[in-house]
Amino acid sequence: SQQTLSIPTLIMRLFVLSLCCLQLALLASAVKEDEELFDWQEFHLTIENPQAAATVRHYVNARDFLVANENHLGYTESVVVPPQEVIGFMAFLGNLQVKYEILEKDVGGMLLRARLENKLSARAFNNDPSTYFAQSSEIYTWMEGLVSQNSGVASLVSIGRSYEGRNLRVLRLNMNGGSNKPVIFIDAAIHAREWLAPATLNYIVKQLINDYKAGNSEVRTLMNKFDWHFMPVVNPDGYDYTFRSSSTRYWRKTRKPYRFAYGADPNRNFDFMFGGPGTSNNPSSDIYHGPNAFSEPETKALSDYLTGIRNQLQQGMYISFHTYGQWWLTPPGYTRSLPSDHTEMMRVGNAAAAAIRAVSGQNFRVGQPANVGLYEAAGGSYDWVKYRLGVKYSFTPELRPYYNGSLSGFSPSAREIPNSGKEIYQAVKAVVKEIM
Ligand SMILES: [Zn+2]
Repeated sequence: SQQTLSIPTLIMRLFVLSLCCLQLALLASAVKEDEELFDWQEFHLTIENPQAAATVRHYVNARDFLVANENHLGYTESVVVPPQEVIGFMAFLGNLQVKYEILEKDVGGMLLRARLENKLSARAFNNDPSTYFAQSSEIYTWMEGLVSQNSGVASLVSIGRSYEGRNLRVLRLNMNGGSNKPVIFIDAAIHAREWLAPATLNYIVKQLINDYKAGNSEVRTLMNKFDWHFMPVVNPDGYDYTFRSSSTRYWRKTRKPYRFAYGADPNRNFDFMFGGPGTSNNPSSDIYHGPNAFSEPETKALSDYLTGIRNQLQQGMYISFHTYGQWWLTPPGYTRSLPSDHTEMMRVGNAAAAAIRAVSGQNFRVGQPANVGLYEAAGGSYDWVKYRLGVKYSFTPELRPYYNGSLSGFSPSAREIPNSGKEIYQAVKAVVKEIM
């Protein structure tokens, strides 16, 4: 039978249709995945009032700009602008009396140089992922090699799969027999773009094995007393995605689709203070906490694994490598209020900072994020490990370089790997010695 639409129904349908088109248009305005960002300029903005922040956000969202973390728009923020928009953006900021600084005149060129240096490093050091930035499958292949060279003490376990089906793997080093010792668990690349974190983890794995074999008494003691578990890439979908092009280089989240956006922030997705300060319920935000705690297969797998070794972990330590800024962060991250064991956490954290200073002279600030120049962030892995699993010693180091608000801090040259590796290796040994 034929159906005639009433006028109000027709208007309603046109309205719905136009909403769909609007969303498609917004989707289409996103920066293309293969855009190499040559001559794109990085602006560092200092915005002093919320009204200006809203105006800037509106302007930026309507264009093909790249924003690191729009959560911070309103204070200081980096925005990457295509060459044809630079003059217009400067005029807009001038009118609004927003102060800015141009941090990089050719983001694509800078990233291309970093990519070439990475290739050279890979070639010079025989594709060893403790010397260059390797994708997840390359790291796993390298770890398989370590396991076969160190059979009986090294093993590689699968703890699940990512949303896109990549392996989630943990390397275990169980020296001196047995596997029931207290555990030092170190992970990296919960955040996709933080490449120096897994590279530093790989460096430490290699150094521990070498020093153990060489009979270094300090390392022998630390490895005989503890089992060491390493998860180099917690978020392999996001991490591998950042290798695709310059425009994907600064991806932070997982890659699970949510309506018209992708990914949740895995370090806001843990089941402690879920949805609290420093998180967003907007799927297109860089700090989207996800629809519920452990909605991401990656955080679910990691939390299940850690729960399984809970008793060993309570006698040991959890360390989650992030970049960048040079902080040795203590929990809780969701608040600036001091915990009851503040003095003890600072004592151990300060040992890390002192060890780093002794190696390289670099300054790492120690404390809860909101008390040392960062911000409150709920739903993070280290808070969950401490307050849900009862693991006293839980840290989040933010590796090199020192914070300057730029995006390029996430994309250092491969030459920084040994510098970071050396200082963080000493820091990790120092904190473990403090709890023995
Ligand atoms: Zn991070």
